[in-house]
Amino acid sequence: MSVQKAIDQLKPQFRGQILTPADGGYDAARKVYNGMIDKRPGAIARCVDVADVIAAVHAAREQDVLVAIRGGGHNAGGLGICDGGLVIDLSLMRSVRVKPAARTARAEGGCTGGDVDHATHGFGMATPTGTISTTGIAGLTLGGGIGHLSRSYGLTIDNLLAVDVVLADGSFVTASAEENPDLYWAVRGGGGNFGVVTSFLFRLHPVKMVNAGPTFWPLDQTPQVMKAYREFITQAPEDVSGFFAFLTVPPVPLFPTDLHGKKMCAVIWCSTAAPEKADKVTKAMRSVGKPALDHVGPMPFPVMQSLFDPLYPTGMQWYWRADFFKEISDASIPVHQKFAEALPTGHSTMHMYPINGAVQRVDNTDTAFSYRDALLAGVIVGVDPDPKNKEKITNWTKAYYDAIHPHSAGGAYVNFMMEEGQDRVKASFRDNYDRLAAIKKNYDPTNFFRVNQNIKPA
Ligand SMILES: Cc1cc2nc3c(=O)[nH]c(=O)nc-3n(C[C@H](O)[C@H](O)[C@H](O)COP(=O)(O)OP(=O)(O)OC[C@H]3O[C@@H](n4cnc5c(N)ncnc54)[C@H](O)[C@@H]3O)c2cc1C
Repeated sequence: MSVQKAIDQLKPQFRGQILTPADGGYDAARKVYNGMIDKRPGAIARCVDVADVIAAVHAAREQDVLVAIRGGGHNAGGLGICDGGLVIDLSLMRSVRVKPAARTARAEGGCTGGDVDHATHGFGMATPTGTISTTGIAGLTLGGGIGHLSRSYGLTIDNLLAVDVVLADGSFVTASAEENPDLYWAVRGGGGNFGVVTSFLFRLHPVKMVNAGPTFWPLDQTPQVMKAYREFITQAPEDVSGFFAFLTVPPVPLFPTDLHGKKMCAVIWCSTAAPEKADKVTKAMRSVGKPALDHVGPMPFPVMQSLFDPLYPTGMQWYWRADFFKEISDASIPVHQKFAEALPTGHSTMHMYPINGAVQRVDNTDTAFSYRDALLAGVIVGVDPDPKNKEKITNWTKAYYDAIHPHSAGGAYVNFMMEEGQDRVKASFRDNYDRLAAIKKNYDPTNFFRVNQNIKPA
C-alpha cells in the first residue's frame, strides 16, 4: 500500500486539488465537524467532477490504498476521513439543478442540506433533509435522512429517485427503479458501502413556509409532557410535526433572559399545514401543564432548517448514541428525566424524532432502512466547545444510553451512531442485513469502501 504511488498515478489526470501533510491547507481540509476526530490521511483528493472521482478510485484500488469518502464531513464517528490512506473529498462538488416542471432537484455529492434548501426554496419547493443545514446531503441521504418533513413527505430516501455512483472497479452507473434496482434498494439506507455517489436526484414538494418554533416546559413537568407527546404524535395528521427534546435554553436574544441557562423539555414544531390548521391541531399539546415559552409561527422553510446552525458550529466536541423507540413507555420516563436533569453542558441535548406518518407508508423491506415500524428515532448528544469536557459529555451519553437502551426497539439509526462495532451495525439493519451483504458482494466484493457503518460482503 503506497499513498505516494496513488498520488503519482492520480496527479496527471486530476483537475481538483491533492493535499498531503506537506501542503498548506492540509490541516484545514482534514478537519471534520466533530472536534474530537483527529485523523491524518496520507492524502486528500478534493474532486471537482466525476472524472476526478473515477481517477481517484482507480488510483487507490490499483495501489491498494485505504479509501474514505467525504461528503459534508458531519459524521460524528469520523467516517468521512481516515488515518493514512486517501480521502475522496467531494466537498467542492456542490451544484444543485432544479427542474421546476418535473419537481426534481439534482444535487452533487458534496452538497449540504443548506445548498439543497437554498436552490429549491427559490422555486417554492423542498425535499425532506435534516435539521442542521451544514450536514452533508450524501451521508445523510445514504443512511436514510430524518428531519422536519419526515412525517409529511417521508425520509430523504423516500424522495430519492436516482443516484449516479462510481463503483469500486471505477465504473460509473446510475441506480434507480429502472436501472440497477438492487443497488438503488441498497443505497436507500445502506450508507456509503456501495460506491461514491456523485449525484442525487430528489423529488420535490411544494413547501415554502412552515409553522414552526419551540414550546418549552420546566423539567419537573417531563412526565406530563412526555405522556401527552406520545399520544399526540401517534394521532397527529401527517402535515403537523414536532420532535421532542431535552435542552438548556441558550443565552440568545430570541429567548427571555430569565430562561437563559434553564434545563427544559421541549417540542420543536415544524408543520407543513396551513398556520390555522397547525395551530388548531397543536393547541392542546402546547397547553399541557404550564409551558415556560411557546414561540411558534410561520417562517420560510430554510429559516427553520438553519435555526440551530449558530448553536452548533463546526469543531465542537461531539459524542452521541442512538436507539429507535416503538413507544415512550411509562417505565422509561423517570430514566429520561434523571438524565435530563444531569445534562452535562449547555449544548448537550436529547432528541426524539417522529418517524411515523409518511415514513410508514413504505415497508421495512422496500428500502435498506429497516426501522419504519418504530415511532421515534432517539439520539443522546453530548456536546461542548471545550476539549477538556470530552470525558464529561462522553460519560453522560454512555450512561444515559445504557439506562435507556433496554426500553428501545434494539437498533439505531446508522447516521446517529459512532463506530460501535459489527453487532450494532447488524442490529440496525436487522432483517435487511443479509440482502445488503449479498448486494455488497456484487458491487464491492473486496470491501474497498469500508470506512463506514460497514456491511461485509456475503
Ligand atoms: C449537527 C448534526 C446534525 C445532524 N442532523 C441530522 C438530521 O437532522 N437528520 C439526519 O438524518 N441526520 C442528521 N445528522 C447525521 C448525519 O446524517 C450523518 O452524520 C451523516 O453521516 C452526515 O453526512 P456527511 O456527508 O456530512 O458526512 P461525512 O462525514 O462526509 O460522511 C459520512 C458517511 O457517508 C459516506 N459518504 C459521504 N459522502 C458520500 C458519497 N458522496 N458517496 C458515498 N458515501 C458517502 C462516508 O463514507 C461516511 O461513511 C446530523 C449530524 C450532525 C453532526
